Amino acid sequence: MVRNRKFISGVVPPQERSEPAWWFVFRESNLLVYQEPSPVRSPYLIDLGELGLTALSEHYLGRLDNQPCYAAEVAEGTIPPAGMTFEGLRQVYGRLDEDLFWIAARAVQIIDWDRTHRFCGRCGVPLKIKTTERAKECPQCSLLHFPRLAPAIIVLVERGDKLLLARSRHFMPGMYSVLAGFVEPGESLEEAVVREVKEEVGIEIKDIKYFGSQPWPFPHSLMIGFTATYAGSGIFLDDEEIENADWFTVDSLPRIPGKISIARKLIDWFIEKQGGVSG
Ligand SMILES: [Zn+2]
Repeated sequence: MVRNRKFISGVVPPQERSEPAWWFVFRESNLLVYQEPSPVRSPYLIDLGELGLTALSEHYLGRLDNQPCYAAEVAEGTIPPAGMTFEGLRQVYGRLDEDLFWIAARAVQIIDWDRTHRFCGRCGVPLKIKTTERAKECPQCSLLHFPRLAPAIIVLVERGDKLLLARSRHFMPGMYSVLAGFVEPGESLEEAVVREVKEEVGIEIKDIKYFGSQPWPFPHSLMIGFTATYAGSGIFLDDEEIENADWFTVDSLPRIPGKISIARKLIDWFIEKQGGVSG
């Protein structure tokens, strides 16, 4: 995925805090945004104190069009400043500027990592944040702890004018999507694609092609998208996770995921390929 504006990731903040910065402020997993106007925006300030807020932690993220960006965490009971609100990331998608949205998606993962990686897993002593890279280091045994990132494959399987969609038990009623699953240690992405499809619906596939990737900050996945072609066997549901799976033409689609997801981008790609217009 390519963004419109230039974001350069960084871990070393400016020496002086003298220029306005974008602030991605989270109360638990909810982002602070202005209520009006639409599209909503994030605070753009020199310091969070201007809003009367105190951060529990702050993390420099880098620069967007040369303006600094910070992630900040505020305490659970924090009341939003006048005219502002805390909203879940999924809720602000489509209303928050897309470049800001994807920096917020970085911010929430850095904050979550900071919150959940406080002690060394080997010797239990408090970790220190490294100032030169996005990592924490154990002062006793030097073990490094990096932000967690879980790679997951997602694949659209086509068969003539039909595509394979499946329903997981935890989806909203009526919702279907393409298949996805986490990559196992030691596995290539292509092997993960073949295994997931086989495990979840029992079919064989071929012509596996890379489609694109997308960070998925719920909570820390990286989705790697592929397309593939049906190569044999009937749908066989053995996986308890999958409630139903079937082949659909583009004019008989069930309810599908929202625009935020790479799942939808894959489905839209197929719709357009079939000469349809994606909603
Ligand atoms: Zn240690």
